[in-house]
Amino acid sequence: MEATPNRTVVLFAGLGVGHLTPMVELAKIFLRHGVPVVIAIPTAPPSAATVFAATSSDGPRIAAANPSIPFHHLPPPDYPTPDPNPFLQVLDVLRLTGPSLLAYLRSLPSVAALVLDLFCIDSLHAAAQSGAPAYVYYTSAAADLAAFLHMPHHFATTEGDFKDMGKALVRFPGIPPIPASDLPQSVLDRASRTYTARIGHYARIPDVQGVLVNTYEWLEARAVQALRDGACVPHRPTPPVHCIGPLIVKGAAAEGERHACLSWLDAQPERSVVFICFGSLGAVSAAQLKAIAHGLESSGHRFLWVVRTPPADPAKFFLPRPPPDLDALLPEGFMERNVDKGMVLKMWAPQAEVLRHAATGAFMTHCGWNSILEAASAGVPMLCWPQYAEQRLNKVFVVDEMKAGVVMEGYDEELVKAEEVEKKVRLVLESEEGEKLRERLAMAKEKAAEAVADRGSSQTAFAEFLKDLKLTE
Ligand code: UDP
Repeated sequence: MEATPNRTVVLFAGLGVGHLTPMVELAKIFLRHGVPVVIAIPTAPPSAATVFAATSSDGPRIAAANPSIPFHHLPPPDYPTPDPNPFLQVLDVLRLTGPSLLAYLRSLPSVAALVLDLFCIDSLHAAAQSGAPAYVYYTSAAADLAAFLHMPHHFATTEGDFKDMGKALVRFPGIPPIPASDLPQSVLDRASRTYTARIGHYARIPDVQGVLVNTYEWLEARAVQALRDGACVPHRPTPPVHCIGPLIVKGAAAEGERHACLSWLDAQPERSVVFICFGSLGAVSAAQLKAIAHGLESSGHRFLWVVRTPPADPAKFFLPRPPPDLDALLPEGFMERNVDKGMVLKMWAPQAEVLRHAATGAFMTHCGWNSILEAASAGVPMLCWPQYAEQRLNKVFVVDEMKAGVVMEGYDEELVKAEEVEKKVRLVLESEEGEKLRERLAMAKEKAAEAVADRGSSQTAFAEFLKDLKLTE
């Protein structure tokens, strides 16, 4: 008998490292299960070049770094009048790429499923028209999903805006109470276009066949339970939620390259170094860089610090910037005085590997979800300094629910003071509270490893999801 050919799973990725990297890791899991997979990635049109300048090289770079994964670059859509709002511009490009995605799906002999990044959910019609079942791959927290899935109901049954509520607590099923001011900017004002776009996306999630979430059950047990109980979407069934993570990069070490900072870490005592890195886009002001430097110095602890050039306009943090001039940005003599204590990297560090290194004892993070997963799986306590997108919400999850970190007070003001930097670094690296955090994180690390091991919760969830797909003709 002739073997039946396997059908292809198509992954449609959003733009930016935080969306592409988890998609690549998901593709690897399909390939490990012998399922043909291809990542369809959008291309930014020239008219949107300014907003996309920071991320437009990510696709080709990530594709080149993963030669075993098939990528299909979809052509740039026509977009003659780009939206002035950068976030809406991204969503427009993803939506306008829908017809090319549909043409691509139709060109394939047989598609088992279309897996969409949340920001690509406007392409649900492409799945329907091509006859492929659609799934969402959620690259943020299950707790974030629980809050946002509940929001259409929340807004339908309440009045007023989060923006007028200050720090008043808002309650959603399965997650700790959230100060209104920690909710993402995009949903603070019902009259805003970002609100309409975001709430519209979440209102469509119940239309998909299932949601894959890059998390593990132990880390977010309460939120996962609320999602499964249907508590987040009161009047419609919630699609099955499969927690398949943590899917995180293994790093370049496997390919034999080793960054100089890892050799530097080799020479430091165990759990002695605080690692400071604010994601792929995060950056702070020049005054803030100096305050961090003073705080680190007075803490007396070792540090590995990724420094970026401050954005000229803080609202345009996503635009590309030249490498930082450290002599001008850091306090006079800082580098010389700390030559034995610290290392400063310009722009980028191999974060996942740094976090896994035995010398790393604390992580000052902007609370992007990939960063949180990488820290939790490496057992490193977090100093939470949220900056944009859903990071303030993630900060609440890390501190109040996971008990995996502390807040950098002042994150929502103009400056986090040097004294606060010193205090929190000392708290995590020296105090009894820090010791408790380490114990909790040791457990998070163990449970992350268990989840992705044979018969672990995430492996089992992925196998269940595969059973849903008709993988052979
Ligand atoms: N990252 C890195 N080196 C850096 C900055 C970021 O390797 O200097 C990686 C980090 O390990 C993570 C991703 O970029 O995998 C950032 O994703 P996250 O969701 O944390 O934040 P985003 O950049 O999307 O805001």
